[in-house]
Amino acid sequence: MSGKDDKHHTLQTRLIHLGRAPEEYFGIVNPPVSRTSTILYPSLDAYEDKDWKYRYARMGNPLSDKFECAMAEIENGHAAISTPSGLTAITTTLLAFLKSGDHLLVTDSLYPPARNFCDNVLTRFGVAVEYYDPLIGAGISGLIRDNTAVIYMESPGSATFEVQDVPAIVKEAVARGIITIADNSWSAGLLFRPLDHGADVSVQSCTKYVGGHSDVNLGVSVARTPDLYKRLKKTALDLGVCAGADDLYLALRGLRTLKLRLRQCGENAMTVARWLKGRSEVQKIYFPALEDDPNHALWQRDFSGTNGLLSILLPPAPKAAVRAFVEGLELFPLGSSWGGYESLLQPQYLKTCRTAVPWKEDGALLRLQIGLEDPQDLIDDLEQAFAKFEAASA
Ligand SMILES: *Cc1c(COP(=O)(O)O)cnc(C)c1O
Repeated sequence: MSGKDDKHHTLQTRLIHLGRAPEEYFGIVNPPVSRTSTILYPSLDAYEDKDWKYRYARMGNPLSDKFECAMAEIENGHAAISTPSGLTAITTTLLAFLKSGDHLLVTDSLYPPARNFCDNVLTRFGVAVEYYDPLIGAGISGLIRDNTAVIYMESPGSATFEVQDVPAIVKEAVARGIITIADNSWSAGLLFRPLDHGADVSVQSCTKYVGGHSDVNLGVSVARTPDLYKRLKKTALDLGVCAGADDLYLALRGLRTLKLRLRQCGENAMTVARWLKGRSEVQKIYFPALEDDPNHALWQRDFSGTNGLLSILLPPAPKAAVRAFVEGLELFPLGSSWGGYESLLQPQYLKTCRTAVPWKEDGALLRLQIGLEDPQDLIDDLEQAFAKFEAASA
C-alpha cells in the first residue's frame, strides 16, 4: 500500500511515500478523492463473496485504506481504522473493549470531551469509570480491580501536559490481561509510539498536526495486533463510523510535511517558552521540553521532540485584566484545536474536569498553540498584551 518495502528508510523519508500508489492511478501522484457511497459488483458471485474487497464506501474504500495503512506504519501497528473525528476514534475504541460491568481506569488529564463520553455515556451502559492521577506510574496496580478491562492514557495530558510513565502502566496492565489505550495526538505519531511500549491501541486526532491546516476533522485508531484490529474494525462497522473522503485526502497530504511542521512548531514553542519563563506576568508555564519542568525527565526519556503546545498560568488578577490580555493579542486569536499552521489561544477551565487531582490554582490558565509565524513576532505580541494585562491589573 505504502511505498512498498521501504522499511529500511527512515520515517522522514517514508512519510513522503506512505499511503501512495501512483501505479494504481495511471501515475497520478496523490491517490484521488474517491467520493462515493455505492460500489458496483460485477456479478452475483462477487456480491456473495464475503471477502470481496470493497463492498460499500462506509465499510472501507481505496482512500481510507491508503490513509489507514500510512498511519499504521507511522505508529508501528498492525492496522488502523479511520474515524470522522479524533473524538470518535476514542469513543469507538472504548466501546470496542468495554462491556457492562467492567471497570475503566482513565487518566485525570484526558481530553475533556472524552471525559464527557465516559461520564455521560459509558456510565449509562454500566461501566464503572475511575479517574487516576496521570503521574501514578506503576502505582496504577493499586487501583486495578478484578473487573478492570481497560486502562486509558493520554500523554502528555490535555492543558497541563503531564507526562505519563506509559511503559510502567502498560507493564502492570499486561501482567493482568488489561487492554491499554493511549491518546497519541500530542506526538502526531512521530515523537512517541505507545505501541512500541506494548500499548494495545494508539488513538489520534488527525485534526491536529496530521491535517495541520485547520480544515479537517479526522481521527485514527491503530491496533497493535490482528486480533485487536478485528475487534476495532467490527465495532466501527457496527457503529457505522467512517471518515469523509476529502478529510482523508487532506490528511494524507498533510503527512508529506508533517515532520517539518511539527519540528518548526516545536522550535518556535521552545523560543517562546524560554522568553515566557522570565516574565513576571507568568505564574507558571506548562511545557515538558523546558529543562526545569517537573515532567522533563520522563519526557526526555520517552519522547524524541516537542510539539508547539504550552500553557501559561497568569497570576490571580481581575477578569478585566485577563480579558485585556486575551483580547489584546493580535497573533493569538481565541479558538479551539491546535496543530494547524497558525497560533491560537484557548482558555482552560480545569476546576470542572479534574477529580483525581483537583485543580487548585488561582489565576487564568491559557493554552497557547504556537504556530509557524516568526517567533519574534509572537513574543512581541505577547509582550504588548502583557502590558495591557498589567495596566488593567493596577
Ligand atoms: C482535539 C483532541 C481530540 C479530539 O479530536 P477531534 O478531531 O477534534 O475530535 C482528542 N484528543 C486530544 C488530546 C485532542 O487534543
